Amino acid sequence: NEELLINSEKLYVAGQLAAGIAHEIRNPLTSLKGFLQLIATGRASNGQFYAIMKSELVRIESIVSELLMLSKPQMYDFTHRDVRQIMAETVTLLETQAILHDVVIELRAEERPLWVLGVENQLKQVFINVIKNAIEAMPDGGVVSIDMSLDDAGAVGIRIRDEGCGISKEQLSTLGQPFYTTKDKGTGLGLMVTYKIVDNHQGQIAAESEMGVGTTFSIRLPFKERPVASEALMRI
Ligand code: ADP
Ligand code: MG
Repeated sequence: NEELLINSEKLYVAGQLAAGIAHEIRNPLTSLKGFLQLIATGRASNGQFYAIMKSELVRIESIVSELLMLSKPQMYDFTHRDVRQIMAETVTLLETQAILHDVVIELRAEERPLWVLGVENQLKQVFINVIKNAIEAMPDGGVVSIDMSLDDAGAVGIRIRDEGCGISKEQLSTLGQPFYTTKDKGTGLGLMVTYKIVDNHQGQIAAESEMGVGTTFSIRLPFKERPVASEALMRI
């Protein structure tokens, strides 16, 4: 009986999410259809609305690609990875965007490997989502500082701190809810996907913030020592 209840609750959440997604995708679709009609009936010159149409398409594309990250990875997708390496690659990906926003990304990490068992692309997505938000929170530029270390409890700790606008107390509790956004071009899906991925990795994520001072996201992932011997054996 209890299981049934949990299942119906899950169905309810899935239904809510589906309704939200349908709504978010239908809006740009409706406007695309409208512009096509204008062009087809000759009431608009070809090309007049291409820029808007393109941005509507890009919007649908970003919603769909963020949602794709929600699919649960299979067991065999998890591999031993050094978080420092994944983070270094992620920062390289975001370097151009940071420079464009006058943002400097500072990276600090312990000298030893910080092994986790994870899906590389998903962990990258987590770091991308949080760092992008940090950059977007600083319209006049600033510093994003990233710290990685093994904490006292033996977990891998990743802290991403910005000097941005901050998040109010009330907003802090809404983080991770689908479609919550304060941005014109936001999807409000980044953090929901981020929280889900961290959860799939048996990790935790939390945010601390002070208005006008900045925000720190702390992520913890279980440290998983790499089984050197068995990997060596498998290579033979
Ligand atoms: P999006 O970035 O598309 O708005 P997210 O799920 O990534 O969606 O973030 C949701 C909201 O959380 C943002 O619109 C913003 O209001 C807030 N937020 C997230 N990270 C930060 C941050 N580092 N500083 C300030 N606000 C943030
Ligand atoms: Mg975002």
